[in-house]
Amino acid sequence: MTADAPARAGEGAGRPVDGVLLDIDDTLVDTRGAFAVALTAAASAFLPHVTADRHAEMLQVWRADGGDHYRRYTRGEIGYRDQRFARANELQRVFGGEPLDDQAYARWDAIFEDGFAGAWAAHEEASEVVDRLLDHGLAVGALSNAGVEYQTTKLRRVGLADRVEVLVGVDTLGVGKPDPAVFLEACRRLGTEPARTAYVGDELDVDALGAVAAGLVGVWVDRPGPRRVDVPPEDLTAARAAGVHVVTTLAELPVVLGVDVRG
Ligand SMILES: [Mg+2]
Repeated sequence: MTADAPARAGEGAGRPVDGVLLDIDDTLVDTRGAFAVALTAAASAFLPHVTADRHAEMLQVWRADGGDHYRRYTRGEIGYRDQRFARANELQRVFGGEPLDDQAYARWDAIFEDGFAGAWAAHEEASEVVDRLLDHGLAVGALSNAGVEYQTTKLRRVGLADRVEVLVGVDTLGVGKPDPAVFLEACRRLGTEPARTAYVGDELDVDALGAVAAGLVGVWVDRPGPRRVDVPPEDLTAARAAGVHVVTTLAELPVVLGVDVRG
């Protein structure tokens, strides 16, 4: 295949795709890195006895969200502030800090959010990959389990908002992934058939398997480094058998989706 005879969209995925929907946090944006900055800032004020060598552990506890607070938020069971308040107090509990009351939490959140938003950055390959997908004529949009306005601000800050519109957030329908309704609504807004749309995200269950269950092509971004939650090998085998594609960087997407015209 040559550059003047480009691949038809999607041949590499086993079935054609006309569009790609992307998750934002830890998919397009290095949210893990931004959380590390935010948690370090919050800890310096509220967990001053926790030494720097334990900050990685703190990040792991935060990301694992053992109380499932963020997922309860994405299921519409609790509010955004409720989930973050609960997670902040979980961190205080695990690392031996004082429980936060409303007032203390307001200060905690201001420090955390300032550090978090100040550290937002796209993954280094994200911009180029988005360009390649668009150049190939694919429709590209974002579907996220956070709010549309917040995520649009985030994409603007990292330089992707001009090319990637946040089509659906958790506030669009009042629920998030893996509810099939949000995947289908994002496809409708993207203008592509679900069966001809790939969904790309860093969480195997809510992203890749959720997408497959909704009838899309599911792609799991399994970046190097500690996983947010443990994924047993048998779960990965089952996911692959269900049709999930696994990549370690977005740079592999054009090949997986069959839009790599260099070959
Ligand atoms: Mg994510």
